Order: sequence, then C-alpha cells, then structure tokens
Amino acid sequence: MIDAAAVRRWLEEFAKEVGANRELLTELDAAIGDADHGANLDRGMTAVLGGLDPAATPGALLKATGMTLVSTVGGASGPLYGTFFLRMSQSIGETEELTSEKFAAALRAGLGGVVARGRAEPGDKTMYDALAPACDELDAALAEGSDLADALRRASSAADTGRDATVPMQARKGRASYLGERSIGHQDPGATSAALLLAAGARTLAAPA
Ligand code: ADP
Ligand code: MG
Repeated sequence: MIDAAAVRRWLEEFAKEVGANRELLTELDAAIGDADHGANLDRGMTAVLGGLDPAATPGALLKATGMTLVSTVGGASGPLYGTFFLRMSQSIGETEELTSEKFAAALRAGLGGVVARGRAEPGDKTMYDALAPACDELDAALAEGSDLADALRRASSAADTGRDATVPMQARKGRASYLGERSIGHQDPGATSAALLLAAGARTLAAPA
C-alpha cells in the first residue's frame, strides 16, 4: 500500500533529482528549446516542497503539487506536469492508502491529463514518450504478479528506454517542433525529467515508511 508518507517521499526525491539534474535539463533544452526546463522544474518543485501540508492525504498532496506547478512553472511543462498531478489526485480521491493497482490507474490518469492538455501522440518526442511506456510496464508487471517495488523498477526502466528513444525522433509538439529535422539527434528534456519522476518513484514509493 502507498500512503501519504510514501507520496511525500516521492515528491521530495523528485525535487532532489530535478535539482541535481538541473544543468542537464537546461543543456538538453538549450539544444532544442529555450534552455529553461531545468530552471522551470526546479523552481516548481522547490515551491511544492515548501507548501506540503503534513496532514494531507495522498490525493491532497498530489493536488497541491499540481496546483503549485501550474501557478509557478512557466512554459509548456508547468501546465503539463500540473495537469498530470491534478489528474492523479482526482483519480485517487480521498483514500488514505492506495493499492498498487490504484496507483497504476492514477499514473495513467495523469498521462491522460498530459494528453488532454498537450495532444501529444507516441513518437512526438515529448514527456509522453517516457510516461506512456512506464504506465504500460507498470500495468503489465502488476498483471504478472510483481510486487510494487519490482513493478516500479520495471516502470522506471521503461521510462529510461522511452527517454532514450526520443533521441532519433523529430519533435512534433512544443517548442522543439519549430526546429523540424534539426530536433533529430537530441534527447527530449521533458522525457528526461519524466524518467527522473519514475526513478524517484521506484526508490521511494515501495520503501518502508
Ligand atoms: P517550454 O518548451 O515552454 O520552454 P519546458 O522547456 O519547461 O517548456 O518544457 C519542454 C518540454 O515539454 C519538452 O521537452 C516536452 O517533453 C514537453 N512538451 C512540450 N509540449 C508538449 C506537449 N504538447 N505535450 C507533451 N509534452 C510537451
Ligand atoms: Mg523550455
């Protein structure tokens, strides 16, 4: 089961990873965008950590995260990650503890929010290309009877593979799409941060409280 403490650990770990990879995310966005993805997410996740309510339920933590990201992060990724966390929160509702299956459903609802907001399709070279394979792998692992820790590790590995697969893609959404064929050969910054989110989940969500 995943409780509020686990969700909090996840958010803290993601914020730490974003901070540690801020320069990498900036460099990747400098190549095919406007060099602000690292700063955008770091500012957003720092604001998120500053506002976490110790008494909040998992859903309330994720709702606050989404609202803070929408309001503090500029660019495309703020509203996209914001909607991701808000849809996760709506999917979870008021419950104090979620099963692995409920978490997987919430992650997929978050992905649905990204698509509703940005209309990304597979292969467009966006965060979708890391998030969607992670959702698929999480579902598959749980269906095969994997425990949560193993399923999350598999999902994180799928996100890494999806991130790497963005390199040869030509961007068809967001700022990078303006470059046309010149976007080919670069790793997508949003897919990179999405892989960090899944890696943070694999390290925290199934760990003992
Ligand atoms: P901006 O492009 O406005 O500067 P960021 O640099 O913070 O915003 O984020 C860029 C990332 O956002 C891209 O690498 C890509 O993964 C993601 N992105 C952009 N547009 C979309 C979209 N329509 N759907 C999904 N993800 C998108
Ligand atoms: Mg940018």
